Amino acid sequence: MEKGDATKYVHTGNGELCYELNKALTVPETFPIYLSSAYIFDSIDPIDKICDEGAPGYAYFRLGNPNADATSQILAAGDGAEKGLVFSSGMAAITTSILATVKPGDHIVASPIIYGEAFYYLKYELKRWGVETTFIDFNTQDVADYIRPNTKLVYGETIANPLMSVPDIQHLADVAHANGAKLFIDNTFATSIIAKPIKYGADLVIYSATKYLGGHDDLVGGAVVGSEEIIKSLSFYLGLYGANLGATESWLLARSLRTLPLRVKKMAENGLALAKFFESHPKVEKVYYPGLESSPSKALADKQFEGNGYGGMLCVNFKGGQKEIDKLISNLQLVRFVPTLAGVGTTLTYPPRASHRDLSPDELAAIGITMGQIRLSSGLEDTDDLLNDFDQALAKM
Ligand code: PLP
Repeated sequence: MEKGDATKYVHTGNGELCYELNKALTVPETFPIYLSSAYIFDSIDPIDKICDEGAPGYAYFRLGNPNADATSQILAAGDGAEKGLVFSSGMAAITTSILATVKPGDHIVASPIIYGEAFYYLKYELKRWGVETTFIDFNTQDVADYIRPNTKLVYGETIANPLMSVPDIQHLADVAHANGAKLFIDNTFATSIIAKPIKYGADLVIYSATKYLGGHDDLVGGAVVGSEEIIKSLSFYLGLYGANLGATESWLLARSLRTLPLRVKKMAENGLALAKFFESHPKVEKVYYPGLESSPSKALADKQFEGNGYGGMLCVNFKGGQKEIDKLISNLQLVRFVPTLAGVGTTLTYPPRASHRDLSPDELAAIGITMGQIRLSSGLEDTDDLLNDFDQALAKM
């Protein structure tokens, strides 16, 4: 019997066409966006195979989907890891990974020089869950002195936000593992193009994909890469907490990753040029950049970055406070004040009122964040245009 209009509109195409496409002799050159929240089963048994036994196929978006898998594969390959996962934001990647690893009564050792909200999460939020964090400067204090029998996690960043210090990842991993703890490294500022923390023993490498990986200031996402075992366990919690990255964002992220090496290389060239420019400028008090000879982190950066450059992130202290920084912002013509980093254009931000606004004045002072400080993210512009823009703006400060 001829079906009614409504039935035709609801049922034509879709499943049938997808089955046909699966048998087609050609495949799309570019992995498509799969905007489907669920999948069709021909019978009931395959659901156990897919959900419990790892058979190929998908059931429900939150528990796994093609775009998340496609993007995770690129990420894992780039980092030299077995597997990866994508999340709805960098903070979702951080909080889900930590919650999946600790339980009430556990202890964490972390650097306080990390992204402000990650610091807040470790210091205040995890306390509500009965997990205590000891903060130490990985460059001046030995993590081995702060490990306790209940320490389950050591947490830091490859290039620390915002003061660009570089920890000895191999040492952190050795100490953590000797105690049965795990090492999580946020590699957002470095990316796998500059450093591969897995190689130095990190168990999990975490990213805010909103930054270099996405790279165009048009998506918010997070990612982790690690061994098959740790990713399998995190995948369960990702589904449970529902911190998934949308299919369109996953696709955008995959597309951006295709150009990550080129972007990071150019940004690192501009980062080094800017760091040298600021270091020799009379209005500048101090420059934090791991590629400068003056940086206490240079030796570790040379060892762990293996000649891949020192990244596009730097911090600059000026004589004067917020008023002077405001003058700089209003006089810059190319460089904009934007509270993020690693888009295609050079941007600056003001850590005490942006990335680290959750910290008290004492907490800011303790880690060296001042009111006369900017954090810069170098972009893809011609180097001379950037130097000229800062030169003219600094002349008016
Ligand atoms: N890690 C670092 C080093 C960051 O700079 C940020 C954000 O700026 C995050 C994590 C959090 O990422 P998201 O904003 O994507 O949640």
